[in-house]
Amino acid sequence: MTDFTMETDADGVAVITWDVKSKSMNVMTRDSMKLLNDLIDEALGSEAIKGIVITSGKDSFAGGMDLNVLGTIREEYKDNPAEGLFEFTMNGHRALRKIERAGMDPKTLKGGKPIAAALPGTALGIGLEVPLACHRIFAADNPKAKIGLPEIMVGIFPGAGGTTRLVRKMGAIAASPLLLEGKLNNPQKAKSAGVIDEVVPADELLAKAKEWVLNATDADIVKPWDQKGYKMPGGAPYHPAGFMNFVGASAMVNGKTMGVYPAAKALLSAVYEGALVPFDTALQIEARWFTHVLMNPSSSAMIRSLFINKEALEKGANRPAVDDQKVQKVGVIGAGMMGAGIALVSALVGIQVVLIDAKQEAADKGKSYTAAYMDKGIARKKATPEKKEAVLGLINATTDYAALEGCDLIVEAVFEDVGVKAEVTAKVQAACPDAIFATNTSTLPITELAKASNDAEKFIGIHFFSPVDKMMLVEIIKGQKTGDVAVAKALDFVRQIRKTPIVVNDARFFYANRCIIPYINEGIRMVKEGVEPALIENAAKLVGMPLGPLQLTDETSIDLGVKIAKATKAAMGDAYDDAQDEVLFWMFDEGRLGRKANAGFYAYDDKGKRQGLWEGLDKYTPAAEQPDLTTVQHRLLFAQVLEAVRALEENVLEDIREGDVGAILGWGFAPWSGGPFSWLDIIGAPYAAERCDQLTAEFGERFTTPALLREMADKNQSFYGRFGKAAKAA
Ligand code: NAD
Repeated sequence: MTDFTMETDADGVAVITWDVKSKSMNVMTRDSMKLLNDLIDEALGSEAIKGIVITSGKDSFAGGMDLNVLGTIREEYKDNPAEGLFEFTMNGHRALRKIERAGMDPKTLKGGKPIAAALPGTALGIGLEVPLACHRIFAADNPKAKIGLPEIMVGIFPGAGGTTRLVRKMGAIAASPLLLEGKLNNPQKAKSAGVIDEVVPADELLAKAKEWVLNATDADIVKPWDQKGYKMPGGAPYHPAGFMNFVGASAMVNGKTMGVYPAAKALLSAVYEGALVPFDTALQIEARWFTHVLMNPSSSAMIRSLFINKEALEKGANRPAVDDQKVQKVGVIGAGMMGAGIALVSALVGIQVVLIDAKQEAADKGKSYTAAYMDKGIARKKATPEKKEAVLGLINATTDYAALEGCDLIVEAVFEDVGVKAEVTAKVQAACPDAIFATNTSTLPITELAKASNDAEKFIGIHFFSPVDKMMLVEIIKGQKTGDVAVAKALDFVRQIRKTPIVVNDARFFYANRCIIPYINEGIRMVKEGVEPALIENAAKLVGMPLGPLQLTDETSIDLGVKIAKATKAAMGDAYDDAQDEVLFWMFDEGRLGRKANAGFYAYDDKGKRQGLWEGLDKYTPAAEQPDLTTVQHRLLFAQVLEAVRALEENVLEDIREGDVGAILGWGFAPWSGGPFSWLDIIGAPYAAERCDQLTAEFGERFTTPALLREMADKNQSFYGRFGKAAKAA
């Protein structure tokens, strides 16, 4: 194990260098933490060593903890995982506290050895918590570096002292965007926020840190909270100013998270309770709340989906083993809303783009989307005029198919019409017969569309979500004859544009739309039944959905809903369930087409700001007796997750990891749950099946327990227990 190495100079400064050879970025494991601890012991015990600098052998400092460790500890301490997790956390505290106290006499606070952190670049999670335990933090002036504590994004909070130290260093209010939102800063901003101490030229980093270590006095290395009379900046909870902060923070967190994220609540508790006691007790409190969060199934599900599996999918967990298919030149046909976005995200990463539309004005308009995007970036100082020119220079907006010569991938985003798409497919093939052809259709079966191609092996679906530049999921759809090279091409393209892919088989609405449409329909049919619209919307939000089904309909537009309803009815015939259509078609006839019309299920002001639910919905007289919250929530959740289970049964989904990651990134499925399969595992198959039986009896056949779920309930199986291992290793 050489994750950390130590060398001591003639001047007596020990430099501990973090460099995990097998990884491009340093991550902390249990073994590496132990090694760091041993090296600190050695340095503190050596007479020859005057002080220590902890740095990295890479151009970044560290990406954080290897979160797989948490799973390993749970396994090891099967009988009492809380004990294992608490001990593990406390060991971390002891090691970092040793760095902070640095061998000083606890009474006189004298005789310790100065320890500085020297960060060449990005420092995240425990990669910042280790520096926070040091006496001074130096960072190289590297504007691309990110410094912060993003743990909350995967359902935990900084549990290696970061929470307690940051709040004591900056005060609860100043620390809250960093802790509660996981806000990351570049080094200059991190310095002005008070997270780090000095930003220095990259080539002077080590020298400056050593110089400080050699000149630091006893007083320089005592943390404010270890000094007599320490007062928390901004005030502790029972200070008049602090009191206001803590009351406000609690309201803010609950407002933002709707109370469904255990980590945010636990973080607040750790901060509040920790602020009332001495530092070492505060660390213990932090460890207890951290363990509490780790023991909540939500945190392991979030870590699994949003960290481990998301990364595995991005790295090509389901990529066929064929040569590198990186895209050099992409042709985008159709420069409308989607085509313009696809051209933008491709050019941003340096891919050459040919953007074609039927008319030159339309192609130019598509390209102007990139110009506007870059202008916004320039206004926010995130881009430069030179970068804008370079990106625009990569996009050739034209009507001329001959310009497609040399393209290795085509993405078609013309009107959602089989005839128009077939015509475009033929034109493209004449211009560049060797390219992989991808359609961005949202509803048309890939296998059918592939019939317009003379090489169905090279035909595939690459389904982007709108707006393309913001939405991180891309759904790749294999038609019956799609070949491995096309799948690899699509995956390599998605990787280049830094999004997350899932790969599914061809079926009506593929995966994401298949699950989201029943959610919308369930909400609308409840309106018709007389359920209060506010109850429907709030029930959805209180279970962690980012938008209620009615608001979502307004955002995606009522006319799209009508179009889908008509097409589905035509395709399904008698099997079509039209319960939501009356309300939907009525809204359409009223011209309430949603946000774009400034009128929908919600009312909007002239500026397009949502005002509240539209009073006209009173037409559906609210039933005298309203259902309870859980019933509404279960109807909304089961409508989605049962589709996910059916997609798995029908082999539309081949890997439950894709089902979970795709649901969170594609349509915001209650992220706290880790996704539909994780949610079913949390509530357990037996209860899920029982609940489906009740919902079926009360509300109809659409809640019928799928055969797979019934079988799993009988055998008391979990989805990750049964299908998780079959998924290729992460
Ligand atoms: P859009 O109407 O904004 O853009 C379509 C563009 O295609 C227009 O600029 C049009 O001029 C051009 N076009 C039409 N026929 C053409 C032809 N023969 N040759 C060249 N250009 C032609 O539509 P959009 O919302 O960008 O959708 C495009 C595709 O993406 C559709 O298949 C749609 O289902 C799919 N999609 C849309 C969304 C969404 O949210 N809008 C999401 C995912 C997928």
